[in-house]
Amino acid sequence: QFIKSEELRRGTDPVHGLEGNNDFSGKRYVWLKDAEKAFVRGEVVEERDNGELSVRCEDGSERNVNSEHVDKVNPAKFDKADDMAELTHLNEASVVHNLHLRYQSDLIYTYSGLFLVTVNPYCPLPIYTNEYVRMYKGQNREDTRPHIFAMADQAFRNLVEEGEHQSILVTGESGAGKTENTKKVIQYLAAVATSEASASRSTGKQLSNLSQQILRANPILEAFGNAQTVRNNNSSRFGKFIRIEFTRSGQISGAYIDWVLLEKSRVVKPNNRERNYHIFYQLLQGADKELRQNLLLFDLQIEDFAYTKDGNDSIAGVSDTEEWNSLMEAFQVMNFSNDDRLCILRTIAAILHLGNITVTKESIRGDQAALAHEAYESLEKACRLLGVDMDTFEKGLLHPRVKAGREWVEKVQTPEQVRLALDALAKGIYERCFGDLVNRINNQLDRRSQTSDDTFFIGVLDIAGFEIFETNSFEQLCINYTNEKLQQFFNHHMFVLEQEEYAREQIEWQFIDFGKDLQPTIDLIELTNPIGIFSCLDEDCVMPKASDKSFTEKLHSLWDGNSPKYRPSRLKQGFVLTHYAAEVEYTTDDWLEKNKDPLNDNVTRLLSSSTDKHVANLFSDYIDADDEQGFSRSRVKKGLFRTVAQRHKDQLSSLMNQLHSTHPHFVRCILPNHKKRPKLFNAPLVLDQLRCNGVLEGIRIARTGFPNRLLFSEFRQRYEVLCRDMPKGYLEGQNAAQIILTKLGLDKTWYRVGRTKVFFRAGVLAELEEQRDALI
Ligand code: ADP
Ligand code: MG
Repeated sequence: QFIKSEELRRGTDPVHGLEGNNDFSGKRYVWLKDAEKAFVRGEVVEERDNGELSVRCEDGSERNVNSEHVDKVNPAKFDKADDMAELTHLNEASVVHNLHLRYQSDLIYTYSGLFLVTVNPYCPLPIYTNEYVRMYKGQNREDTRPHIFAMADQAFRNLVEEGEHQSILVTGESGAGKTENTKKVIQYLAAVATSEASASRSTGKQLSNLSQQILRANPILEAFGNAQTVRNNNSSRFGKFIRIEFTRSGQISGAYIDWVLLEKSRVVKPNNRERNYHIFYQLLQGADKELRQNLLLFDLQIEDFAYTKDGNDSIAGVSDTEEWNSLMEAFQVMNFSNDDRLCILRTIAAILHLGNITVTKESIRGDQAALAHEAYESLEKACRLLGVDMDTFEKGLLHPRVKAGREWVEKVQTPEQVRLALDALAKGIYERCFGDLVNRINNQLDRRSQTSDDTFFIGVLDIAGFEIFETNSFEQLCINYTNEKLQQFFNHHMFVLEQEEYAREQIEWQFIDFGKDLQPTIDLIELTNPIGIFSCLDEDCVMPKASDKSFTEKLHSLWDGNSPKYRPSRLKQGFVLTHYAAEVEYTTDDWLEKNKDPLNDNVTRLLSSSTDKHVANLFSDYIDADDEQGFSRSRVKKGLFRTVAQRHKDQLSSLMNQLHSTHPHFVRCILPNHKKRPKLFNAPLVLDQLRCNGVLEGIRIARTGFPNRLLFSEFRQRYEVLCRDMPKGYLEGQNAAQIILTKLGLDKTWYRVGRTKVFFRAGVLAELEEQRDALI
C-alpha cells in the first residue's frame, strides 16, 4: 500500500500545484474553514501566545484564526490515499481534499474504511470493460485500485468461499450514481458467474440466458420506474433491492427484485421542467399504428394528455422511440407474451385517458360535480381499456355510495373531490401495475425449482439517501427513517468487525457500539408503545374527527420534553427530529391523507370485477362479499386495510431482516455538482453529503479506536530507519515492532501491538512521518 501511495505522489497535485505539506524545513500547514471552498490550506507564519495563528493561505490571503479551529494537514505520503482510513490526520478537510485530488485524476473510487466512496464523473470512463472485469476477478482489495468491481468481487468470493449471503448497499443523493453503480455490480456478477457456468457445459447456455434476463430486467424497470428530473435525466423514483441467487459453486441460479416507495405523485403531476415516467413518452412516441388503435390513442400526442403535457416532452440526447424499441426487445428477452405486453400497456393508456376526464360543476346544484361534455370520450376510452361498465363507473365516481350507520347513502361530491379521486385512481393503478410488472419479472427470474436448496444471494440495494429539502414531508420521513436504520446497521456492523479484529489481534480495547446512539430517533418513529410518529399517525387516520393539526398536537404532547430528539416546530405546523445526519424539520400538512392514501372503493370494487383479467387481478384485494343489492356490507378486504406508514415499516423490517442475514458492503455515491458537469468538484456540496451519508460518522467512530494499522513487516520497512542500534540478525515481526516502538519512545496509549499488526491512534503516524522526512 505504501509503495502505491508513493507512486501516486510523484504525480503533481492538480488542485493546488503543491507537492508536499509538512516538508522537512519545519513548515507547518493547516486547513482553515472557508465559506466558498469548504477548506483552504495555508502555512502557519506566526503562532501567538493567545493561541492565535497567522496563516498564509494558498489563495494568497493572510488570515488570523484560533489554533483550535484549524485541522492538521496530512504528510505528503498520504496524498491520494486509496483508503482514507490510512490518513493519519482523520479530519473533514483531509477527507474532502483526498477525494478532490483523486477526482481530478479520474480516480472516482476511494475507500473510507468499510465504505467505498464514489464521486459521479459525469462522463463515460473506460473502467468498466471486460478487461477491467478480468483485472479485478479474484483479486484482493489491497492489490487493486478501489473500484465497484473490487467490492462486487469481494462479495462474490465471500459467497463462494464462506457460503454466506452478501449485500451491497448503495446510497446517495439523486444523480450521485447509485443506479449506474448498481448496474455495474450486476454486470460484474453476470460476467464472472457466466464464466464459471460455462465450465459446466450442460447448464452453461441456459444460465447465461438467465444472466441476460437479469441484465434486461433493468430497461423494463427503468421505463416504468424512472423519469427525468432536474437532477437526473434518468432518475429512479423508487428504491430497489435486487437479490441475485447463486449456487454454492458460484453459478447464477435466479434473481428476485423487491421495491419500495414508488413516487406515485409524479403520475398525475410531474414537476415543472421534469417529466412523467418514461413509459408514457415511449409509448406515445414509439407505438405503431395498430397498437395505437388498440389502446385507443389514435393520433393523440404528448401534448394532448393532461398528465404529460406540462413539463418537458423530450430529453436531450435520448430518443424515446429507440428506448421504446429496446423496451420491446427487453420484454421479448423476458419472455413476456404479446398478450402480457398488451394488458400492461392498456392500463398505461387507461391512465392517460383518466387524466383527461374533465370535471365541472353541475348546472342545477352548483357545487356538485358533473362531467364536462367533452369528458365522455375519455371516460369511455378509459372504461373500455379497464374493462368496466362506463355508467357504473361514472356513478361510483360522482355519487359514491357509502355506509352511514346501517344505511347506504349517496355522497355528494365536489368537482375537486372527483378530480382528486380520479388522480388517486390513476396513481393507484400505476403503482399496482408497477408491482405486477415486477412480479412478472420475478416469475421469469425465479429458477428455484431447477436448483438445489443450497443457494446464497448477493442483494444489491439502490435507495435514496438522507433527504433534507426546504420543506420536508411524510415522504422525507419515510426515506430518512430508512437511512437512519441503514446507518444503525452500518454502525453496528463496524462495531462487530472492530471488536472481532481487536479480539483476533488480542488487543485490549473496548470498542463502543455507536449503533445504539441512533435508537432513540428510530424509537420515536417506529415504537408502538409509547406510541411513535407512525403509530400515532395510524391512530388518527381512523379517528373520525382527527386532522393534521390535532395529530401534530398529539405528537407534541407525547414527545415534547420526553425525548431529546424531538421538538415542536416554531413557525409551521410540524416537528423537528434529530437524525444522525442533521436536524430535520418536518411539515405535517396532508399527512393523514398521505398515510391513508384513499381510493374510491366503489370504483376499485368495480375494477376488481373487470372483464379484463389483468385489471381485476390488480384490484383483487377489493373483492368482498356482496349483499343482495350488489353492494358490499362492509369494507372488509381480503388483505386488511393498511396505511402507507404500516406498509413501509413492514417492508423495511423485512429488508432489515434480510440484511441482517448477510455480510454487508457499503457504497456511498457522491454528487460533485448540481450542473451535471464533469471535473467540477463543489467541495461544500461534497462535505455536506459526507456528513449525511455516514462517511464522516464512520471516521468519527474509527477515531475512537486505533484507526491506522500496519502489518509488522510494513511498519518495520518504513520506520526502522528512525532507530539506531537495531539488533543484528533475524528478528521475529512482533519482537522487531516492539523494539522499534520502544526505541521511538512513543507514549504507550498511542499504539497497541497485536499478533500481526501495530495499531495506532489517529495522528501518530504523522509524527513518525515527520521524523522520517527530517532524516531522509
Ligand atoms: P442516481 O441513481 O444516484 O440518481 P444515476 O446512477 O442515475 O444516479 O446517475 C446519474 C447520471 O450520472 C447517469 O445517467 C450518468 O450519466 C452519470 N453517471 C453516474 N455514475 C457514472 C459513472 N460511474 N460513469 C459515468 N457516468 C456516470
Ligand atoms: Mg437511481
